Parts: sequence; C-alpha cells; structure tokens
Amino acid sequence: MNQVASNSQLMDNPRILVVGSSNIDMIVKLDRIPRPGETILGGEFVTAAGGKGANQAVSAARAGGSVTFIARVGSDMFGDQAIAGFLAEGINVDHLVRDPASPTGVALIFVGGDGENSIGVATGANGNLSSIDILNAREAFAGAGILMMQLETPLETLQTAADLALDAGLRVILNPAPAPPPPPPATPRGGGARPLPDSLLRHVSILTPNETEAESLTGIKVDSPAAAAEAAGQLMARGVQTVIVTMGIRGAFVADAATRQLVSAFKVDAVDTTAAGDTFNGALAVALAEGQPLDQAVRFANAAAAISVTRIGAQPSVPKRREIEQFLATH
Ligand code: ADP
Repeated sequence: MNQVASNSQLMDNPRILVVGSSNIDMIVKLDRIPRPGETILGGEFVTAAGGKGANQAVSAARAGGSVTFIARVGSDMFGDQAIAGFLAEGINVDHLVRDPASPTGVALIFVGGDGENSIGVATGANGNLSSIDILNAREAFAGAGILMMQLETPLETLQTAADLALDAGLRVILNPAPAPPPPPPATPRGGGARPLPDSLLRHVSILTPNETEAESLTGIKVDSPAAAAEAAGQLMARGVQTVIVTMGIRGAFVADAATRQLVSAFKVDAVDTTAAGDTFNGALAVALAEGQPLDQAVRFANAAAAISVTRIGAQPSVPKRREIEQFLATH
C-alpha cells in the first residue's frame, strides 16, 4: 500500500490518544541471573522498544486505531530510534517531546535460563512528562474517542490529561500498571487508603488492572471471578464506571452498572506472556472507540492478547488487525 493510501485510511479510523512511557529495553539472556557482585560471561544481548505507553500505542495502532502518542524521550540515539519506530507504525508523534536534559527511559533486563527475569528501570525523560506537555497537546484531544494511560509517568500529569479528556468528551482507559505499592499493613482488608486518588478514578471510564494490580488497589486477594467482582465493586464505589480485571489464562472479568461477567480467554499454546496486558489494552481501546459493545470489545482484546502470548517479545508479538479478525473468525 502506498503512503497516501495508508494515511487516508488512518483518517477514518477511531482516534486514540495515549499518554505514557517510552523505554528502550536492554536485555541480556544468561544461564541464570547474576547475584550482587557477580559477573557471568557468555550472555546474549538484544534491544527492544518498550515502555507500557509505547507498547499500548503500538497495540492500538496495529489493531486499527489512528494513534497519537504523548510522551517524552531523550535527545539521544534511543529517542531517535523510538520515534523512528512510532513513525513506522503510523503513530502520530507531533506531541512527543524531546527532553533536553534527561535520557530516554531505559529498562535493563536480565533473563535467566528458566525464563525468570530481573529488571531495573531508569525512568529518565518519562519522569519529566508534565501537565504543561499535556496542555500543549490540547488540540489532539478534540475529536479523539479514547484517552489511554498507565502508571509509568507522573500522576499529576495523568490527572491533567484526565481533566482535559472529561472536558473534551473522551472516555478514559486507565491501566493501573505497574502495580501501585500495596496499602500499608495497618489498612483493614479491602477498606483503606490507596495510592490512586479518587479525583483521578472519578474520571476513569474503564480501569483495567490485572489480578496483582487489583489487589494492590483494593487489598482484596483477586484469585477468582468472585474476588474480582468484589474488587471491581469497591473500585466502582470510588468512582470508576467500568472495571475490567485481566486474569491471565482465565480471561477478563468485566463489571459495570449493568453486568458482572467473566469473558473467557482463548485457548492457545502460550510461550511468552510479556506485554499480554499491553496488547489487551491497545486492542480494547480500538474496539471501544469503534463503538463495539463492552463484551464484544473484551472478546476482541482477549483475541489480540491470546495471539501475543503465542509469540516471543513485547512489541514484536503484538498482532495486526487482520490477524485478530482471522483469529476471531476461526475461534
Ligand atoms: P498482564 O500481562 O498485565 O499481567 P494478564 O496476565 O491478565 O495481564 O493478561 C492479559 C490478557 O492476556 C488476559 O486477560 C488474556 O486475555 C490474555 N492472556 C494472558 N495469558 C494468556 C494465556 N495463557 N492464554 C490465553 N490468553 C492469555
């Protein structure tokens, strides 16, 4: 397809705004993860584009969204690489800021022979994504359908974006990942103060925690659909309209004013669940922005995520629209 055709096609696609992080993942694969003070030779090195914001932006773009990504990367080589990657996906980077001082976010990842990993993240430019950056991107909010965010950029910035989204009539998807710190021990089960302010949650149309994140937000151990329903009820009482708890191989538990139901995952041979949640969120945003009903949108997101777990890596494993549709037609 030539450039003009693909651009004009994008104009008709649902518009998704993503506010979030962009990292470069530097991965060293070894027989095992080195202990403090230890050096192990013989590893294999790969780099990959990452960061939850970037992963979800790529997922939404491949699922058929016209995506604008609001983020910060450094004025360094990794920032150049990240932007080239977004452009190749057809993602609009008009409001992506080059930080003059801080480097692009970096995740240093050790992967051991058994697949376990150990990750250190230098937040870098992601930590400087500011409310002013959001206000400078104000024009991107007009005409968009969905704003999607995660927790790898400052909370105050997310609040500003959520406020603008409310004014502009956008629905807000918040993927509360990575898990906020657990409530302090003195907090009664299911009842205490949590790190996400209610002022933010009140502006969230759809909150998409995984089981761990749902637990850290509510204090409820989410190990069954019934527990997911209880956690969702508590989050809805704090102002969220719809809660979707992703439950790995089980699928996703959906709760809103009208429904409480588990939408089952698809049966596939999983080889790597990295970025399953990011793939789910990007595809969900597109399906909802297209006006698909909630249960159908979750089925679409389950399908995208199921395809992603059959492949290795984060962004390389994210499926395109045609694959998701073929998968749905045959499962
Ligand atoms: P996260 O990656 O954020 O921890 P989950 O593990 O809940 O999130 O996975 C997100 C979604 O990916 C699930 O809701 C499901 O749709 C899909 N998924 C995850 N693991 C599998 C699996 N083994 N088989 C099929 N689908 C899966």
